[in-house]
This record gives sequence, C-alpha cells and structure tokens, in this order.
Amino acid sequence: MKQCYMVIDVSLCHDCNNCFMACKDEHVGNKWLPYTDEQPRHGHRWMNVHRTERGQCPRVDVCYLPMPCQHCQDAPCSKAHPGCISRREDGIVTINTSQARGVKELVDSCPYGAIYWNEEANIAQKCTMCAHLLDGNEEIKMPRCAHSCPTDAIAFYTLEPEEMDQKIRNEGLEVYRPELGTKPNVFYKNLYRFEKAFVAGGILKNNECAEGVEVTLKGNNVKYSQITDYFGDFKFDALLPGEYTIVIGGKEVRTVLVEASVNVGSIDI
Ligand code: SF4
Ligand code: SF4
Ligand code: SF4
Repeated sequence: MKQCYMVIDVSLCHDCNNCFMACKDEHVGNKWLPYTDEQPRHGHRWMNVHRTERGQCPRVDVCYLPMPCQHCQDAPCSKAHPGCISRREDGIVTINTSQARGVKELVDSCPYGAIYWNEEANIAQKCTMCAHLLDGNEEIKMPRCAHSCPTDAIAFYTLEPEEMDQKIRNEGLEVYRPELGTKPNVFYKNLYRFEKAFVAGGILKNNECAEGVEVTLKGNNVKYSQITDYFGDFKFDALLPGEYTIVIGGKEVRTVLVEASVNVGSIDI
C-alpha cells in the first residue's frame, strides 16, 4: 500500500518559519477531530525548525533542520502507550483523541521531542501530517507546511515503499538520528549540513588571495581535492570527526583535529 512520506532538504531551508506559521494557521482555532484537538496558540511547535552554527568567523555557516513528528514505523511512543497512539496503513502516526486524554507521559515517550502537552484539552498533541487534508475533500491534498514552504524545502509524497526505497538510493536520502532505529517516514536531504563538519581556509600568495590552487585534505580514511576559488578559499564539507592533513603542492602544511567545523585561517604558500 502507498505510504505518506516527507522529504526535507536541509540545504534549502532559510528559517523563514512559514511552515511553522502554516501549521498554526491550520490547527489553532480549528478542531480537526478525530485527528486532533485545536493546537494551542503558544508553546507547541509541531513543526520545529532547529538551528546550528558551524565554523569560526569569518568562515561560518548556519543551517536549519525542520523537524515534525517523524512518523516512525517502529515508534517508541506507540510502543510505550499502544492504545493511545497508532500507525495508519498509510504510515501516518496519530494520537487517539478518545483514548489518550490525561496521558501526560506520552510527551516523554518521543525521543525527538515531537509531542507536546495541551493543558486545556488535557491531551498530548503532535504533527498529524495534516491527515485531515489528505483524507478530506480539501483542495490542498498535502500537509500545509509543505504547501507553504517558499523554497520547496519540504516535499510530500505518497509512494509504494519500493518506490521510496528507489528514491532514497537515487537521492541519497537519510533519516535523522538513525541510531534510534525508529524507521521514520520523514527523510532528509543534505543532512550533513546539520550533522557533519567542515574544514575551511584561505590560501595567500605574496599577500594576495591565491585563486586556482589545488588543496588536498587527507586522513580518517578519505582523501579529497579541490581548487581554491576567486578569494583563495577552500571548504571541505561533510567530514566525520578525526585527524586530517592539508596538503598543498605535495607539502603537508597543516594538521587539523576535527571535532566540530574548523576555520584554519589563512595559509601562506
Ligand atoms: S517554510 Fe521552508 S524554508 Fe521556511 S523554515 Fe520552513 S522549511 Fe525552512
Ligand atoms: S517522532 Fe516521536 S511522536 Fe512521532 S512517531 Fe516517532 S516516536 Fe512517535
Ligand atoms: S504536516 Fe501538518 S500538522 Fe504536521 S507540521 Fe506540517 S502543517 Fe503541522
């Protein structure tokens, strides 16, 4: 059977929070039972845009990770409270509004922090993947957050699992925190921007920016080369923690211990 999937491209997210606002617009003041009660105006972030900063001035970048409920196939929330949360045949994980009243412990059962407590309605709530829109006769047949994203960072698909497997392979999609083993139906593209590190720097020759110089980074079982840009800059990204060596013109010029992203500054050649 076709499953509902979200694919979120981390490199396209600009932190405008349109997705967050669209979620509020859809759910604050609207009770979409039996899917969910009204979302409170404050305190809930069913679409939560996380942020990370990498590097040191001036070689820094900022990256955003839009995070709804991951609609896990092997969901810790539903394992902990089976009557209160269930997974539909199309893969959408929903909180059962008739059985989950008063079960505050649900909030702590999600390792992604995607569940929030609604004190007034006495129930836990989270992203529903806008199932009311998908099931109903609305014009919009997709989650409001995906519909509202100006950069198309959030995409929504209904696909057979085999088609999705193909897409995962073709586009190098990943899940967030795979070590949890939850098998999410939400996938990410360019996740390295959030999770991995870079080594960046600039090459100077006779005190001028050295464009077109070949720089090699080796170590940690990898070896990458690139050519410096107009400003003499280089940037090796998607690195795992470890020790690396920068090589220029066959000479080892710097050793870098990568625990987080590093700006090595200027290197004179
Ligand atoms: S609407 Fe799109 S670009 Fe804006 S924060 Fe959400 S995912 Fe990012
Ligand atoms: S992200 Fe959290 S709330 Fe959503 S299905 Fe997974 S464990 Fe449950
Ligand atoms: S899918 Fe719907 S409920 Fe989930 S975060 Fe997006 S707008 Fe909110």
